[in-house]
Amino acid sequence: MKIGFGYDIHRLVQGRKLIIGGVEIPFSLGEDGYSDGDVLIHAVIDALLGASGLGDIGTHFPSGNKEYKDISSRILLCHTRDMVTSAGYSVNNLDCTVILEKPILSPFRNAIIQCLSEDLHIPGNSVSLKAKTKEGMDDTGAGKSIEAYAVVLIEVEKL
Ligand SMILES: [Zn+2]
Repeated sequence: MKIGFGYDIHRLVQGRKLIIGGVEIPFSLGEDGYSDGDVLIHAVIDALLGASGLGDIGTHFPSGNKEYKDISSRILLCHTRDMVTSAGYSVNNLDCTVILEKPILSPFRNAIIQCLSEDLHIPGNSVSLKAKTKEGMDDTGAGKSIEAYAVVLIEVEKL
């Protein structure tokens, strides 16, 4: 078994969609970014790449490459899952925390878990999602940014 950890942060700006774990969440602000800015999926991708020793998201999906402009991060996540599988691993489970001041994430929790479990080909009960605020502290606490942490466990595929 191998463990991997990922972190990401995006500015929240007007004129962009707020997409978290593949789910579009109605809100006045959204993540700035070259792709769709899905902060949670980016953290998950880095956790998967870290666990399998395959580098990081910026190496595989560089900003500035037109191929990735405004792309759904779910597509990047599926590419990453295929890379991890090709390297001889299967995903065991995923545990994530999203940090945002607003909006409340709980109504979207099940939909996000479903997206992640579909893309990773693991059952929904192997995906955990928590949401936290920063109690008003720093820029994320002021609602200017959103952060995500992810930990994944992968196993050598049994033949
Ligand atoms: Zn990102």
